Amino acid sequence: DTDRLLAAGRKPEDIDAALRPKRLDEFVGQKAARENLRVFIAAAKARGDALDHVLFFGPPGLGKTTLAQIVAREMGVGFRATSGPVIAKSGDLAALLTNLEDGDVLFIDEIHRLAPAVEEVLYPAMEDRALDLMIGEGPSARSVRIELPRFTLVGATTRQGLLTTPLRDRFGIPIRLNFYTVDELEQVVRRAASLLDLGIAEDGAHEIAKRSRGTPRIAGRLLRRVRDFANVAGEGVVHADVADKALNRLEVDHLGLDAMDRRYLNMIADIYKGGPVGVETLAAGLSEPRDTIEEVIEPYLIQLGLIARTARGRCLNGPGWKHLGLNPPSNGQD
Ligand code: ADP
Repeated sequence: DTDRLLAAGRKPEDIDAALRPKRLDEFVGQKAARENLRVFIAAAKARGDALDHVLFFGPPGLGKTTLAQIVAREMGVGFRATSGPVIAKSGDLAALLTNLEDGDVLFIDEIHRLAPAVEEVLYPAMEDRALDLMIGEGPSARSVRIELPRFTLVGATTRQGLLTTPLRDRFGIPIRLNFYTVDELEQVVRRAASLLDLGIAEDGAHEIAKRSRGTPRIAGRLLRRVRDFANVAGEGVVHADVADKALNRLEVDHLGLDAMDRRYLNMIADIYKGGPVGVETLAAGLSEPRDTIEEVIEPYLIQLGLIARTARGRCLNGPGWKHLGLNPPSNGQD
C-alpha cells in the first residue's frame, strides 16, 4: 500500500514542520536556487505543463525537503514524499507512480539509495511518463507499457556524486544548496523566534546564527534549546549572554562545532599527527559510519578550512590546529 511508502519517508524531525517556510518569498538565502526556481516555475505554469524534474543536493538540514514542498505549493499541485531506502521493490515505485494525480510532485529523499532495479523503473517514468511492466514469467513473459500522469520528480541527496549517471542526467533542473551565511541564519533565527512567540535581541540572534554550522535545521534546534535556558533563567528576551551560556552548556563552541566535530579533529591531531589519514580509519576510530563522516561532519570543517580532503587522506590545516589550541608538529607540512 502506498500510504506505508509515503509515511515511512517522513522525517522524524517533522515537529519543525511549523517552522518550514511555505512560499519561495519566505525562503531565506540560496538566492541563485530561488531565482532559478522562480523562473522555471513561472515558465512551466505559463505553458500549462508540469515542472521539469528537480534534483536538490547538499548537506543535511539546508532546506531540500522544504524547497520540494515549496515547489509543489508554488505550482499549485499535490505533494507526496517518500525516500530511497523505503522503496524496496520496483512494484513499490510502480504503485507510487500510478497513484499520482496530474501534475503532482513526487519527492524522493536520499535518492542515491534507490535499489538498482527500482532505478530502472524510474528512467522511463521520468523520460516518457510511462511504466514498463513485465507480466508473467519465463518464455511467456511480456512487457506492457502504462501511461503515467504528468508529474515532477523532486530528488534530494547529500551526495550528488553517488547518483548513477543515467539518473543524474534525467534531472532537467539540478540545484546545489550551500551553507548559509551568518546574516541569513540570523534571519532564519528571527523568523523562527517569532513563530515560537519568543522575544530575541539582535545580539542573541547573531550569537545563535554564528554557531549554527551554516545550517538552518541546527539554527532552529539551538534556538529551542536556548529558549529553554532563557525560560529557566527567567529571562523573557534572549540576549547574547544567555545564548552564549546555553550554547557552551551544549558544548557548541564559538565556531559552532559540536563535541563530535572536535572528536574528529582531535583524532587527526593526536593520533595521526595531523594526517593524512584515510576516512575508513577515522570512521573506525570514531565508531561512526563513513557516510556520517563524509556527509555530516566533513563538509562544514572543509568549508571553514580546518581540514582538507587529499588523495592520500584527510589532513588538519593550520586553522584546524589553531582551533584546537595546539601547535602542528614541527616537521608538519602545514
Ligand atoms: P534537508 O531536507 O535539506 O535536510 P529541510 O528542508 O528538512 O532540510 O530543512 C530543515 C529545517 O530547516 C526545516 O525545519 C526548515 O524549517 C528549516 N529551514 C531550511 N531552510 C530554511 C530557510 N531557507 N529558511 C528558513 N528555514 C529553513
